Amino acid sequence: MTDHSNILKASFHTLGCKLNFSETSAIATQLARRGIMRASAEDTPDIVVVNTCSVTEVADKKGRSLIRRLRSRWPDATLVVTGCYAQLKPQEVAGIEGVDMVLGNDEKLKIDRFLNEWEKDRRNRVEVHDYLDIREFQGACERGDRTRYWLKVQDGCDYFCTYCTIPFARGRSRSGSIASLVEDARKAAYAGGKEIVLTGVNVGCFGKDTGEDFLELLKRLDDVEGIVRYRISSIEPNLLTEDIIRWMAEESRAFMPSFHIPLQSGSDEVLRLMNRRYRTDLFSDRINMIRSIIPHAFIGVDIIVGARGETDEEWEKSYCYAKSLPVSRFHVFPYSERPGTKALGIDHQVSQEEKHARVGMLTKLSDQKLREFSRGYFGTCRPVLWEHPDSHEEGVMYGHTDNYLRVRAKASPSLYNTITPALLSSFYNADPETLQAIIE
Ligand code: SF4
Repeated sequence: MTDHSNILKASFHTLGCKLNFSETSAIATQLARRGIMRASAEDTPDIVVVNTCSVTEVADKKGRSLIRRLRSRWPDATLVVTGCYAQLKPQEVAGIEGVDMVLGNDEKLKIDRFLNEWEKDRRNRVEVHDYLDIREFQGACERGDRTRYWLKVQDGCDYFCTYCTIPFARGRSRSGSIASLVEDARKAAYAGGKEIVLTGVNVGCFGKDTGEDFLELLKRLDDVEGIVRYRISSIEPNLLTEDIIRWMAEESRAFMPSFHIPLQSGSDEVLRLMNRRYRTDLFSDRINMIRSIIPHAFIGVDIIVGARGETDEEWEKSYCYAKSLPVSRFHVFPYSERPGTKALGIDHQVSQEEKHARVGMLTKLSDQKLREFSRGYFGTCRPVLWEHPDSHEEGVMYGHTDNYLRVRAKASPSLYNTITPALLSSFYNADPETLQAIIE
């Protein structure tokens, strides 16, 4: 920490998932309580916090280069590295020149205590618990980008998919209590929040450790006055039950018609090799149920491409299956080998070149699906939450419809964080993922 005569400032840098982003905000809030303010772009921070991701090799690499960049930019700041990369490879992170403190995922939200100790002895430290000892749920409900709040309802995972290191990075599944999460939502509403996204590693596992029920959580959150939109960041298909879908369709006030569901492969054999808890028949069942009772729902689907075992034949099956799905878009991820995972024992490997070609095919398919889905709403009116003004063009606002279509319209900035009906007219030329709208 460079300057003790002034207020200390911290800058925060996050890689990876929504959960990480919500936890970074929780760290910032914790430091603010201690009088350490968030550094602005012009400030020289006294503390730099890097919240890393380790979902792929590329994520680790990005983490390393970000740490190095930040260290050379601010040579005198206290540099704290946390997150999944820090949890999984603490010594590697500690070995990067200039890293002062490495905190595991369990220590992340105890940064306050470690900074106190650092102030006393200025001793570099690596504070990382073994993942088997990570048991405590540490909540986070924070304003994310713009108008949304991220409410962490669950952490960790018990599934052990063969390609995934998350259970080793975040520990076993654990949940917040319904009472405390409802209280967090109330506070967010009191602070002006309109939309809350429920985050976690395996959100649908909520309550398995506490005996509480996920649908009950949704119902209680739905009753919180002031919050007009909820979304679930992502939910495993086997945990998205018919009861949940029906409740969202028929009774919910504020849970929006948008879903994000991981498929990971459209080949049953690859799903088996991945140790996923469902097969394509169950996945189709859930998608068809959503489409039949919430026809206008946005359905985003994650797929990993080029996993071990994805032979040409299995890829063909996977692609055809993906093509047949009545979904709105795919989020395509090239498979990445992770040291220590069971997947490394699977024989067939897909070459980088082939993986690249498959990613291209699915991305193209996703673009088609999105255009097709979006086009279906031309000429219709939908409620839009206005989230931010255009940074270049005055009098233009951006937002999302209830069913997660991104729109832009000529609008006054005073509409920020309000919901108005808007007539969707066409694709926006400069960005085909955005629709032009007219406020009625
Ligand atoms: S469900 Fe599977 S892929 Fe998702 S976090 Fe758990 S182990 Fe990883």
